[in-house]
Amino acid sequence: MPKELITHETGYPDAWVCVCKNTPVDHGFFPCDKNGNEMEPLKGSDWNGLYVCANCGRIINQSTLEVVGKNPNTKVLA
Ligand SMILES: [Zn+2]
Repeated sequence: MPKELITHETGYPDAWVCVCKNTPVDHGFFPCDKNGNEMEPLKGSDWNGLYVCANCGRIINQSTLEVVGKNPNTKVLA
């Protein structure tokens, strides 16, 4: 599978733009586990810096902005 990267607004590294065009002010992104299910990124948890796109379910590594997987049926926290 070819490597996919998301982008961000010029000059705003936190203003992510997913491959599907989702942004933080649109559907947003949530911290998730390696399976793409939303989780609390608490200290001491096994969170490893992954976020899931709430629109398409792409799983994103926050340090590289690389798409590392996809879970279109992501479970969100209540
Ligand atoms: Zn997306």
